[in-house]
Amino acid sequence: LAFSSCGLPQKLLQNIETAGYVMPTPVQVQVIPAALDGRSLLVSADTGSGKTASFLIPIISLCAKLYPNNNSNLRKPLAVVLTPTRELGIQVEDQAKLLGKGLPFKTALVVGGDPIARQLYRIQQGVELIIGTPGRLIDILTKQDIELSDVKIFGLDEVDCMLQRGFRDQVMQIFRALSQPQLLMYSATISQDVEKIASCMATDIVTVSI
Ligand code: AMP
Repeated sequence: LAFSSCGLPQKLLQNIETAGYVMPTPVQVQVIPAALDGRSLLVSADTGSGKTASFLIPIISLCAKLYPNNNSNLRKPLAVVLTPTRELGIQVEDQAKLLGKGLPFKTALVVGGDPIARQLYRIQQGVELIIGTPGRLIDILTKQDIELSDVKIFGLDEVDCMLQRGFRDQVMQIFRALSQPQLLMYSATISQDVEKIASCMATDIVTVSI
């Protein structure tokens, strides 16, 4: 499999090339076509496997295809990605900006340590992807009614870590604010708890292990 045979938008392919990704990593080979096909996935993958790009590429592709010429500020979030920590959220956003450059694709980062008001303003300006930690995203959703009905993809990075940190209820609360999104869920290890939360969110989930 090559990136160029996945039917990705041309600009996204250019950004992948500029990032220096020549060949998809094994996790990307398995995840990208299935995710583009709309499947919900539970992926066992570690840091360094290229997991971040494996969910960002389908998300950016979806945004570019749904709203090819979107310059309005009425755009609504199409994807939400949760990370267990602020640091991981920052890394995901950095990679999203790199891969989404020049496309109708904006991101908002909602993590602790930065002013909520600024994060909320950014979302209100119109973004396609919200990246955040569960606690801060709940704070924001409690403060303001954010329109999440268009969210098509719900990404969960390092789910095992989120569960260890006691975020299970927050994750489920965010899930319930969405309308049956496609799940792209990642975990270093697939424990029973991870399988349980996955099956609470989707019945037709495909497990991918490398
Ligand atoms: P991750 O597993 O998401 O933490 O990614 C690890 C590193 O691999 C990141 O620095 C990415 O920029 C890089 N990376 C992701 N996909 C590829 C690829 N297909 N080829 C080369 N490097 C990649």
